[in-house]
Amino acid sequence: MIFPDAMLGMLGGGQLGRMFTLAAHIMGYRVTVLDPDPLSPAGAVADVHLKAAYQDIEALQHLADSCAAVTTEFENVPAESLRWLAKHCTVRPAGDAVAIAQDRIREKAFFRACGLGVAPYAVIENENDISKAPANLFPGILKRARFGYDGKGQTTVANTGQAYAAFHKMGADSCVLEQRLILEREVSVIVARGEGGEGRSFPLAENRHRKGILDVSIVPARVTHELAARAEAGALRIAEQLNYVGVLAVEFFVTTAGELLVNEMAPRPHNSGHYTIDACATSQFEQQVRTLCGLPLSDTRLLSPVVMVNLLGEAWAHGEPAWQQVFNLPEAKLHLYGKHEARFGRKMGHYTVLGASAEAALAEALKVRAALYPDWTD
Ligand code: ATP
Ligand code: MG
Repeated sequence: MIFPDAMLGMLGGGQLGRMFTLAAHIMGYRVTVLDPDPLSPAGAVADVHLKAAYQDIEALQHLADSCAAVTTEFENVPAESLRWLAKHCTVRPAGDAVAIAQDRIREKAFFRACGLGVAPYAVIENENDISKAPANLFPGILKRARFGYDGKGQTTVANTGQAYAAFHKMGADSCVLEQRLILEREVSVIVARGEGGEGRSFPLAENRHRKGILDVSIVPARVTHELAARAEAGALRIAEQLNYVGVLAVEFFVTTAGELLVNEMAPRPHNSGHYTIDACATSQFEQQVRTLCGLPLSDTRLLSPVVMVNLLGEAWAHGEPAWQQVFNLPEAKLHLYGKHEARFGRKMGHYTVLGASAEAALAEALKVRAALYPDWTD
């Protein structure tokens, strides 16, 4: 086990790295962040900020020499960098697991091999694959196999002709064509798996998206216990089959036909798990520190129903947001990530609202949301 005040390494300096760093600091660890951006949210709170590229051998050597263990917050971190580091120090999760999560084609095949359902899809490498795609995949969503996030690298296509056009527009890189499902709702689950194979799940979150970006998470999700248990068991099975050590997020679709289908996974804490900071016995970030350091997993129980709302750059459209709307509500908590430029679609922060029930928290949270996004009608 790695005890405080060891130095921990973090590849990636975004908000997930920042919240990891804050959790590590509370426990008495020190953190070195590697991120080329001099203004990165995690770099600003880290003990050491290495401003270098993720493949920079000198920087990786520095991490390996100075850190007891290294992890990542950034999905597209070069798996090669993780593999290189693993030869010199403890790295969790393993580069191989991260590589599967980075590639939708490998990821979907892996989910199926785990015995889990996914949306009907076809692998698209060229035009011929599009012409051969079964008709039931339309209307569909063409998704780039790699480097997509927040709905980027995705196009809705009604027919083969639109699919050709979208394929070329996205650079003719490998894609998957997925049937566009009629969703009843979306849910996600964050699990942690320790080095001894023990696994633990956080409560299921129900997620609402706006324009492909997570907007609101509601916990507990308004689904049956049976469905929640199936999602948690599915996520734990994925972690086990990957021989995963660390925190893993799994997103699911619930169709109107009542099916539970895996959408994708992220080899790290997840936006839909931010509610754990304010509403669970342990946050997903403390759990990440624990799995990284080989400590026992801790209690994941939900202490109160909670709703999380993302704060995107749009909230700054008319200047500084009306923060008193959040602060006036005693059961609300504001989290800002220290980003200097508010761009549309950029995740700047979030707030959570506790309540006697998920419905009560949601009602309060949406009132605040309406005040912070005066231009939004949905
Ligand atoms: P993120 O990284 O933010 O999770 P992403 O860019 O990796 O997003 P997905 O999770 O694949 O993309 O899709 C984003 C959202 O688009 C989903 O959460 C869902 O709302 C919608 N979506 C994606 N695929 C489908 C589908 N097959 N049918 C219906 N809706 C879909
Ligand atoms: Mg997603």
